[in-house]
Amino acid sequence: MASHIVGYPRMGPKRELKFALESFWDGKSSAEDLQKVSADLRSSIWKQMADAGIKHIPSNTFSYYDQVLDTTALLGAVPPRYGWNGGEIGFDTYFSMARGNASVPAMEMTKWFDTNYHFIVPELGPDVNFSYASHKAVEEYKEAKALGVDTVPVLVGPVSYLLLSKPAKGVEKTFSLLSLLPKILPIYKEVVSELKAAGASWIQFDEPTLVLDLESDKLQAFTGAYSELESALSGLNVLIETYFADVPAAAFKTLTSLKGVTAYGFDLVRGTKTLDLIKSEFPKGKYLFAGVVDGRNIWANDLSASLSTLKTLEGIVGKDKLVVSTSSSLLHTAVDLVNETKLDHEIKSWLAFAAQKIIEVNALAKALAGHKDEAFFSANAAAQASRKSSPRVTNEAVQKAAAALKGSDHRRATNVSARLDAQQKKLNLPILPTTTIGSFPQTIELRRVRREYKAKKISEEEYVKAIKEEIYKVVKLQEELDIDVLVHGEPERNDMVEYFGEQLSGFAFTANGWVQSYGSRCVKPPIIYGDVSRPKPMTVFWSSAAQSMTARPMKGMLTGPVTILNWSFVRNDQPRFETTYQIALAIKDEVEDLEKAGISVIQIDEAALREGLPLRKSEHAFYLDWAVHSFRITNSCVQDTTQIHTHMCYSNFNDIIHSIIDMDADVITIENSRSDEKLLSVFREGVKYGAGIGPGVYDIHSPRIPSTDEIADRINKMLAVLETNILWVNPDCGLKTRKYTEVKPALSNMVAAAKLLRTEL
Ligand code: GLN
Ligand code: ZN
Repeated sequence: MASHIVGYPRMGPKRELKFALESFWDGKSSAEDLQKVSADLRSSIWKQMADAGIKHIPSNTFSYYDQVLDTTALLGAVPPRYGWNGGEIGFDTYFSMARGNASVPAMEMTKWFDTNYHFIVPELGPDVNFSYASHKAVEEYKEAKALGVDTVPVLVGPVSYLLLSKPAKGVEKTFSLLSLLPKILPIYKEVVSELKAAGASWIQFDEPTLVLDLESDKLQAFTGAYSELESALSGLNVLIETYFADVPAAAFKTLTSLKGVTAYGFDLVRGTKTLDLIKSEFPKGKYLFAGVVDGRNIWANDLSASLSTLKTLEGIVGKDKLVVSTSSSLLHTAVDLVNETKLDHEIKSWLAFAAQKIIEVNALAKALAGHKDEAFFSANAAAQASRKSSPRVTNEAVQKAAAALKGSDHRRATNVSARLDAQQKKLNLPILPTTTIGSFPQTIELRRVRREYKAKKISEEEYVKAIKEEIYKVVKLQEELDIDVLVHGEPERNDMVEYFGEQLSGFAFTANGWVQSYGSRCVKPPIIYGDVSRPKPMTVFWSSAAQSMTARPMKGMLTGPVTILNWSFVRNDQPRFETTYQIALAIKDEVEDLEKAGISVIQIDEAALREGLPLRKSEHAFYLDWAVHSFRITNSCVQDTTQIHTHMCYSNFNDIIHSIIDMDADVITIENSRSDEKLLSVFREGVKYGAGIGPGVYDIHSPRIPSTDEIADRINKMLAVLETNILWVNPDCGLKTRKYTEVKPALSNMVAAAKLLRTEL
């Protein structure tokens, strides 16, 4: 029985690639150094899989930045502004597209499906001159072969590549991306023929767009593309890999009728409905790559449950046609549990990171072949049982409270306009009130203080003193700048989710559980393993201290339940909404304690609300319903005079505007500076709704300092659409990543712009 891995993390168990990349970008090491680190990582991954006994080992899943950008390089689809003159694409052009250079900004980056991985969006127009400009896929295949490992080269499939692209500037409205298929397929043929010549016997095309809601012309593009490739592919076993959701019935028909294709890969963790399609209409004689080991999470597989699914599938497709696989690339999970030496022993037994998942896939394949590793299976069963019955997982009081929430509604008693009136009486703010989103620059000194406190190198007293001093500085700075609603600056927080997770029960933290977010950037999501509760107040101490330093209103600053959920590894033993309701109850307690402590403006960030939106439209309403409900649970009980803010980072709000309104916050601040037009509709709805709205007036992602005029201009544009009395003036997002030398003048100009306009209104 065969085994397969869809893809593997590139960063390395200790983020070796990250450090090699950053050192290369800083000019501290050479291209050869970077290549060496990368080659070592690749060879150790191949060897690891080969040693584990995996039959179909992927290659070309390594990337210096992103696999979609690699495909852009493969096709020579470099936008003209990077000044590439043909030939093989080198680091210069490649990293300029990824990160920009002194004269040209980077290409756009966007989220890879519903993961936290970001890819570089290809920009394609009618004038692109495609050429075979990166031989990376073939080189990696040969490199593995030279190490004695015959791999399955992986390519982003031609149709998904085009569907994930955007039309180049100037042709946005008129250009059909799929019309480029005839131009890119010849290059795919060249790669395929080189791979064949190098000895490949399998090839994998990732076509994950097949899980989306695709119109029939898009499905036809798959049929056309693979018919065109058929002769080039002959002699190869061809796997089309899908992941992240079930494949809709129409797409399943298209997929399983593709010419020249011999194998199909499905995500059977998230795509349970695909199982039914397989049962009723899987084509005879084809391979089924059954993704039963979760590529998106960190839980150990329930091996006996998987084995029984696999046995059913074996009955359908036949013994020699079933391949055990992962549900998606393991890129989206942590790398190796071995490095978690500090993790609680019991919790550790419940987990499997990428390296452990390889072993699971292999153990399942061997068990199917009649060589069950009894010891491995029984240890797994024991861990599953301990997770089910552990008192650390279950908290009955929390379960009861969360269950009681379902079905009932949670809304503030008064409508938003009346609330804003009541709040204004208390807060007495000028028109166009100014505020910031929460964090202030995080200095090296600040990070040192937090680190030393954590390592118990400084006492609690010293720590509190240092943080209070920092808060005082930030408060006084805001007073000097004459900002109206202040923040404490979040100096005590390392990360907006981790900070809360560390104080809530039901969360665990890893030392090295990093997952690539984009380029060299990684995140280390907390693990939610149990029922969530709040043993004691989390932010009241700091917020009260900050409020006592000023007569101006000080915003309490919390992370919302949906964002905490979406930025964590979540439980797979209960639905996501259950977990979110539990977090909502914990945040609700915090909101109420802040109110009691005299904090009259409370911001509950839902930076990641849009991110959790399911891939398929049919599931949107359900998600938005419980997500928005969870947000309202946190604050439906506060008094009218308590002002609730929420903040959301950049996303396409158009399709969820009604849900944003349904959150019923008093003031919504949103990231805006990158896409004025898109948000226009949001503003218009906002006018009807009556809540305060603060579309960011300048981009905090850039070190550029906006002038007063520029900001005033931008506010004026907003005033053309929005009523004066609901508009707030604030930056796009938190200031944590900026320097004080940028923040001071930028905020000073922002306040000046607001004041200028106040005199004109
Ligand atoms: N309050 C947070 C901050 O200012 C919000 C960050 C975010 O939206 N990502 O840092
Ligand atoms: Zn933000």
